[in-house]
Amino acid sequence: MRKWLFILLYFASPLFPIIVTYQANPGRYASNDMLLSMVLGAVAFTWLSWQFIMSARPKMIEVVFGMDKIYRFHGMMAIIALIMVFVHQLIKENIFGENLMTTIGTISMITFIVISVISILLMVSSFVTRIEPFKTIRKIVESLKVFKYAHYRFLHNMTILALILMQIHVLLTSIVKANKLVFGAYMIYFLLGFGFYCYHKVVKPSILQEERYIVSDVIEETPTMWSIYMTPKNGKVMLYKPGQFGFFRVVKGQVAREEHPFSISSSPTNREFLSVTIKALGDYTKSINQIKPGDELTVEGPYGRFSYVNYRKEISRVFIVGGIGITPILSMLRYMKDVDPKQRVLLIWGMNQISEYIIADEMKEIINHMPNLKIIPVVASDPSYEGEKGYIDRFKLERLLNEGLLIDTTTGFYLCGPLILMNNSIKNLSDIGIEKNMIHYEKFSL
Ligand SMILES: Cc1cc2nc3c(=O)[nH]c(=O)nc-3n(C[C@H](O)[C@H](O)[C@H](O)COP(=O)(O)OP(=O)(O)OC[C@H]3O[C@@H](n4cnc5c(N)ncnc54)[C@H](O)[C@@H]3O)c2cc1C
Repeated sequence: MRKWLFILLYFASPLFPIIVTYQANPGRYASNDMLLSMVLGAVAFTWLSWQFIMSARPKMIEVVFGMDKIYRFHGMMAIIALIMVFVHQLIKENIFGENLMTTIGTISMITFIVISVISILLMVSSFVTRIEPFKTIRKIVESLKVFKYAHYRFLHNMTILALILMQIHVLLTSIVKANKLVFGAYMIYFLLGFGFYCYHKVVKPSILQEERYIVSDVIEETPTMWSIYMTPKNGKVMLYKPGQFGFFRVVKGQVAREEHPFSISSSPTNREFLSVTIKALGDYTKSINQIKPGDELTVEGPYGRFSYVNYRKEISRVFIVGGIGITPILSMLRYMKDVDPKQRVLLIWGMNQISEYIIADEMKEIINHMPNLKIIPVVASDPSYEGEKGYIDRFKLERLLNEGLLIDTTTGFYLCGPLILMNNSIKNLSDIGIEKNMIHYEKFSL
């Protein structure tokens, strides 16, 4: 219900500025060009303002949709809004020629478009980055090793300047200058977008500073994987569900002050500390071994819907993970051990080397407490390993499912790990006949 309310609110929101603008001077919109330009401008303006609201990660929207869906929607809607802005500007320039109002509108539009194109091509993994020429552009830029994700992120934040320019453009239009209600309608949306942005970038970080965590331990799980344990300075560990993630930022220590998302691997039943397990992949994660006890972090969250507690009707669960994708599952297993030890669970855990079977001692303890838990490591490239070998393909998946657990319509499937494993597993599970609504996944990219 809440989901549909939000969707309705989002898509209906342009109606308010459209109606008040039209009613302020119906004669002005007798021509189709003027009417179309006004409608496109109002829709684009409200939807672009919404992008700033959604990017601020408001909890009430996140709990309904999940962060990954919000970010995907954000990317898609920004493109649609910018196409509308483009047509709106073309019509406006045709009617009014070049003046201060249209020039500012054009600068705002170009700023939005340039930043959006760079963000889509280089920041996110979307269908666009799988199209051949775009894929090549991304590869070339990445191979130059000049720009980091943090640079793109900084640039992306500059869209706030484009929003301010867009508002100035709106305020310069004669109908907004002449009518207080129209002025109010556009001002509300601008202030909402701008307000959420400021809250997210300025107010929230300073609140988080008050709720810092201090690193108590750093454990090298493998040469490329570390677990960081942290205790809250004020003694209160945040409330979260097993499987959720947070945005972590080291605010005191040697590591860059960048914010990165990581799944919380500890159990919510543990009220003393939080832990994360991180794999060295890029510039930032390769520096994780420089984190030392005593360093301080802020944690924003929790976020995410990838938690078995959200799907209570499921009787049994299958976790299919690869590599570092084990982290949200660790949290769920640790939690189940404490509160739900009779759960029927099959964990199919893909890894390159058996040495990536981390926290082996704790796993033994979890297995001892959970009589209905079965763990099958699937090791890709370790000739010395004598158990299940290779990759989790369709054939193997079907066999392991048959051997490992009684699968029925009440079995929930949880996927996390490399994109290729997730995409293949989603397809393979669908082919086997698993309903889409029983497959849940967490992508490690936003
Ligand atoms: C919901 C979620 C949970 C995650 N949980 C874990 C985990 O438990 N353990 C773990 O090791 N990794 C986890 N990751 C992945 C981790 O966030 C990235 O590996 C890390 O941010 C990469 O940063 P880098 O500079 O080392 O690598 P880069 O090579 O710079 O980046 C690799 C990719 O990571 C993403 N990325 C980079 N920086 C950021 C950032 N600041 N914010 C958002 N995305 C970024 C981008 O898609 C980028 O293309 C998770 C990611 C998400 C989205």
